[in-house]
Amino acid sequence: MPRDRTRAMRRKEFALLLDALSLLGLHQLKQVTEQAARLAGCQETQALIAQRIDHIAACPHCAGATFCRWGFTDAGGQRYRCRDCGRSFTGLTGTPLCRIHDKHQLLANAQCMRDRLSVRAAAKQLGVHRNTAFRWRHLLMPSLERHQPAALEGVAEADEVFFRLSFKGCKRDMPRLAYRRAMPATKRGISAEQIPVLTALCRGSRHSFMAVLPPLPNTASVSTALGPLVKPDTVLCADSAGLYKPLGKKLGITVWQIPSGSHKQGANHIQNVNALHSRIRGWFRPFKGVATKYLDKYLAWFRYFDHTPHPAKASLFLLDAIGVPT
Ligand SMILES: [Zn+2]
Repeated sequence: MPRDRTRAMRRKEFALLLDALSLLGLHQLKQVTEQAARLAGCQETQALIAQRIDHIAACPHCAGATFCRWGFTDAGGQRYRCRDCGRSFTGLTGTPLCRIHDKHQLLANAQCMRDRLSVRAAAKQLGVHRNTAFRWRHLLMPSLERHQPAALEGVAEADEVFFRLSFKGCKRDMPRLAYRRAMPATKRGISAEQIPVLTALCRGSRHSFMAVLPPLPNTASVSTALGPLVKPDTVLCADSAGLYKPLGKKLGITVWQIPSGSHKQGANHIQNVNALHSRIRGWFRPFKGVATKYLDKYLAWFRYFDHTPHPAKASLFLLDAIGVPT
């Protein structure tokens, strides 16, 4: 891999290279295509990583502002050296991704996450072991959890969506016998087998708040989750569940409840949050169940692609995951 990425091939040499392509057979052309795609992915990933240094503009070790370029890493990434502390660093130093060996695959991995590929499908596409694909996506997901609204102001809607308690991936110390695939819950309706996720969003916004609650939601658990977000003038629309009746008094806000069997009452409704639940169910379908211990991370992943105005760009997703505002 050439160390100096800034030096492009001369025009005459490049024309000769293009002419030589016509001499290649089909198999060789496919090899050239694959290699060109890999190198382009490398360069694009490194350019994105370099944007983080432009953004933080400081040494990740001592926060010193004077540093210079200091050669390249074995993977071809730009290395920098701080003039204050003398330590070297790269664009990913200080992030969970800095210890990944195949950094040139980061953008391809972000593309797999944008496409909601399962771990096995992503591993096949990236050409890595499924455990590696699993680790890479779990390194990216925690950084997405910060995308929660800071407040619920004006008219807001709230409701819970339920996920089956899942021990997916658990190979020992199971608290119960393993279920066969697609086995229904042993109890009907809301029970300790259903994990509630409180969802809320302001009217006219797709920036949703989500919190995984303990089983069997009640006023205390919902008020603990919503308390830091609501303002005295917040008007909360909710369904007819009994837990919302005392919530208004506890949080000091107005709560409008839609009667059971009705879609709306006057101008009050919870159709936006119901639409959010529909998107959540559709988004989670390819994963065929998510382990409860990872549920909050997967919800953060969903939230990013649900509310971002540029859902189609994996490059923006990667930039956001490494801490560059997009
Ligand atoms: Zn330093």
